[in-house]
Amino acid sequence: MKTIRIACFIKGANCLTTRHTGIRRGAAIAALLAGLALPAVWTAAPRAAAEGQQPEARRVAVVIDDFGNNMKGTEQMLKLPIPLTVAVMPFLPSTKADAEAAHAQGRDVIVHLPMEPVRGKKSWLGPKAILTGLSDEEIRTRVEAAIADVPHAVGMNNHMGSKATADERVMRIVLQVCRERGLFFLDSRTSYKTVVPKVAKELGVPLLQNDVFLDDVYTHQHVSRQIAVLKEIVGKHEKTVVIGHVGPPGLITSSALKAAAPSLQTQARFVKLSELLPSAGALP
Ligand SMILES: [Zn+2]
Repeated sequence: MKTIRIACFIKGANCLTTRHTGIRRGAAIAALLAGLALPAVWTAAPRAAAEGQQPEARRVAVVIDDFGNNMKGTEQMLKLPIPLTVAVMPFLPSTKADAEAAHAQGRDVIVHLPMEPVRGKKSWLGPKAILTGLSDEEIRTRVEAAIADVPHAVGMNNHMGSKATADERVMRIVLQVCRERGLFFLDSRTSYKTVVPKVAKELGVPLLQNDVFLDDVYTHQHVSRQIAVLKEIVGKHEKTVVIGHVGPPGLITSSALKAAAPSLQTQARFVKLSELLPSAGALP
C-alpha cells in the first residue's frame, strides 16, 4: 500500500482556541467509561440530559482530517455511525477513493488544502502545497487543481498552514477561489494570527471555525482529555466543530469517538459540517 509521509500539524503549535481554558481534566476518564458502558452501535434518538438540556438545540460537527493517503484509521473512521465530515488531501494515492467512499455514505467531503506552517518539514505538507513564496498565479492554479482533484468537495479547510493562514495576500486568493467554486471554508485555526475571518467576511465566503483538536498528541490519555474538553464546549455553545485525524492517532481517535458518541448525543445532535453554515439548518 503506497503511503506518502505527511503530518497535520507541528508538535508544540497549539491549535486550541482561548475558548478552551478552564478544562475539567478529571472528567475525561469518567466520560470515556460512560461511553464504553453503552452499546457500540446506537440507533435510538438521543436521551435528554438529566438537567433538562435540549440535545436537538445543540449541534456538533466532527471533521476528520488527512484522508487521501491510505492513513491508519481510515476504515474505522468511515464505519463510525455519526455524520462525520471527511477532509481529503489532494494529489495523494487514495484521494479519489476516500472522497468517493465518504460521498457514497452521504458524508460531507471537503478539500484538506496543504498550507505552509511557520515551522516543520516541507515533506509533511504533501504535493503542491500553498506556500507564501508562490506568485498569485501559482497559488490560484494550485487551489483550483486541489479542488478539481477531490471529488464531491463542498468546502475546504487547511492542513497545517500556521504561516499561510496569517498571510492576507495568500488567503485572499484561496478564499476568492472558494467563492468562485461555491465552497465554504473551515479555518482549522492553526495560528492565532489567522486572517481568515477578516478576509472571508470581506469576500462573503461562508466561514466556520474549529473549536478543538482531539488528537494533537497521539495518546489515549490526551484524546480522552480532549473529549472532555469537547463536552464542555458542546455544553456551552449551540454550534461546535471538532477536528480529529486519520494517521498516527487514527485508531485511538476513532475508538474514542465511538465510545463517547452515545453520551455526546445526550448533549447535542451530530451533523454534517455544512449543516452548521449560517444559512443551513438555522434554528427558528
Ligand atoms: Zn491535516
